[in-house]
Amino acid sequence: MKHNFKAIEKKWQAAWEKDEIFKAVDGSDKPKFYGLVEFPYPSGAGMHVGHIKAYSSVEVVSRKRRMQGYNVLFPIGFDAFGLPTENYAVKTNTHPRKITDDNIKKFTTQLKSVGFSFDYSRTIDTTQEDYYKWTQWIFLKMFEKGLVFRDKTLVNYCPHCKVVLSNEDSQGGKCDICDTDVIQKEKDVWYLRITEYADKLLQGLDGLDFPENIKQQQVNWIGKSKGAFVNFTLDGIDKKLEIYTTRPDTLCGVTFMVIAPEHPYIDEYSDKISNMDDILAYRAECQKKSEFERTQLVSKDKTGVRVEGFDAINPITGKRFQYTFQIT
Ligand SMILES: [Zn+2]
Repeated sequence: MKHNFKAIEKKWQAAWEKDEIFKAVDGSDKPKFYGLVEFPYPSGAGMHVGHIKAYSSVEVVSRKRRMQGYNVLFPIGFDAFGLPTENYAVKTNTHPRKITDDNIKKFTTQLKSVGFSFDYSRTIDTTQEDYYKWTQWIFLKMFEKGLVFRDKTLVNYCPHCKVVLSNEDSQGGKCDICDTDVIQKEKDVWYLRITEYADKLLQGLDGLDFPENIKQQQVNWIGKSKGAFVNFTLDGIDKKLEIYTTRPDTLCGVTFMVIAPEHPYIDEYSDKISNMDDILAYRAECQKKSEFERTQLVSKDKTGVRVEGFDAINPITGKRFQYTFQIT
């Protein structure tokens, strides 16, 4: 027998919508189940198969729990602030509010036509004031508690678009939007002091029913590291160079020192360096590399320029050795 699946889908999707069967009920006596997926960015291109892949497993569990008599909260929302919308707004001279609303409408239609059983009555949109006022509130609370700070970092920057790009949007050293060479620019950015919670986060993984490799990824992401800060004396300079090492026991064997080409000492002590031209040329070359390229240590030839001018001294052996630059 041949079935018309499209017609069957339509019929039942209409029935689900009419009876609001995916709605979580406030104050219900049933046992609770909360399923959460990563909210999509509502791009103009609409959904792709990655969304379906990412949401289907929690979808299956949510449906099963409903059938088992749970009061299921399976929400959906849109993480809607972002560069693609901004750029599209400029390009088409359309208000980003309209673009975002249109894209969300498109995504919602697509999510429903796949059959995802989200509670659409609770949909959130991060660009609505009643949502982002709480993001701002949380940020202020963290700021008051000293859990937020500003520091410098290198970012991928497109000098043409005048925007900071993610590693994904600057692959091959080219801006994804206009194809201009991306440069590395030092910028003040906000950091959250999640390291304060490293122990708590690690403890939270104990007894958690996750696959071991996922747990290990979490451990790596939390990135707790035990080590020591060590000061290296710099010959001819009144400042010391502080480094961090997880293996202070190997300090005797240190024979050379690597610093980033953008290290502030380079500019501060440029009058002591005899080969500044080489260094500046190397710095310009490095600015074209993404952070990803610069920090990939595996199977990569190391590059660098020797700093002719000041030496570091091994704090254990007292031996002098020279600075050299490298790509990290
Ligand atoms: Zn660009």
